[in-house]
Amino acid sequence: MTAFSQLSGTIAERIHQIRQTLPDSVRLLAVTKQVSIELMRAAYDAGVRDFAENRVQEAEAKQVQLHDLTDVTWHLIGHLQSNKAQKALECFQWIHSIDDLKLAQRLNRLAAPLPQKPQSLLQVKLLPDPTKYGWSVAELMNDLSVLNQCEDLRIQGLMTILPYGLTSTEATTAFQQMQTLANTIRQQNLPHIQMQVLSMGMSNDYRFAVQAGATMVRLGRILFGDRPA
Ligand SMILES: *Cc1c(COP(=O)(O)O)cnc(C)c1O
Repeated sequence: MTAFSQLSGTIAERIHQIRQTLPDSVRLLAVTKQVSIELMRAAYDAGVRDFAENRVQEAEAKQVQLHDLTDVTWHLIGHLQSNKAQKALECFQWIHSIDDLKLAQRLNRLAAPLPQKPQSLLQVKLLPDPTKYGWSVAELMNDLSVLNQCEDLRIQGLMTILPYGLTSTEATTAFQQMQTLANTIRQQNLPHIQMQVLSMGMSNDYRFAVQAGATMVRLGRILFGDRPA
């Protein structure tokens, strides 16, 4: 894994530099897990309006401290345990990490009475990886018709996390497969499954993801430095 311990410039400079390399259609999400409130405020001051967290409790605590930042959108990107689903719906406008049918159906049930429905993404595991959650392509195709009944999820697209250690060619190929998969799903014209969002690309590999059509990149270490191990 690339180390990001020796970042140059201020966080504002890094954000501006990265933004310049991104097409306007790509939304930059700052992954703020384990990042201090002070650094999050600096990112906000540099124009970031999307914070992504992988734990519900951490996000909830930060939202109390950052309640004055009323125009921030919060994204959940980590695996969600079913007993935290209700809380997740309260804390996050976007849920990227819907990773199986049971969770999707539970969130859909819980979202039904809410005025503000979650924007949701389906997490896909492109390559076999026992440490990662998500649908395989075959499993997802199989579950689509049931997912299409989850109207209160506002499904907008797909999310993926690639395993570490791929070559740039392998990463590019995998991200292109996501684009192909989204196209295949789109052709089914399912009324409750939109496919205009592709959440893919992290500090290591976002350049390849953008080339392959990512619409959201999730950047942590390249903005904030390495997290404590
Ligand atoms: C931590 C994390 C990121 C950010 O990774 P970096 O290498 O810090 O850019 C992106 N997506 C998910 C799902 C993560 O858990």
